[in-house]
Amino acid sequence: MICVTLDMQCSLCGSDRFHLPTQPGESPHVRCANCTAVKCQTLALESTLMAYRREHTPPHHRAA
Ligand SMILES: [Zn+2]
Repeated sequence: MICVTLDMQCSLCGSDRFHLPTQPGESPHVRCANCTAVKCQTLALESTLMAYRREHTPPHHRAA
């Protein structure tokens, strides 16, 4: 899991820092780094996650 600053804010505390899952076994949810509220319904965030995974996932790990 990594902690990143995204161009969005937590609906509960207003933080723009979020924890993103980076491992296949981790929860697929994105959580606010400040209050740990789950933020997973945002379309922009989905795009951010997909872009991140494209950039950081080795080709031989993409099959799953
Ligand atoms: Zn929060």
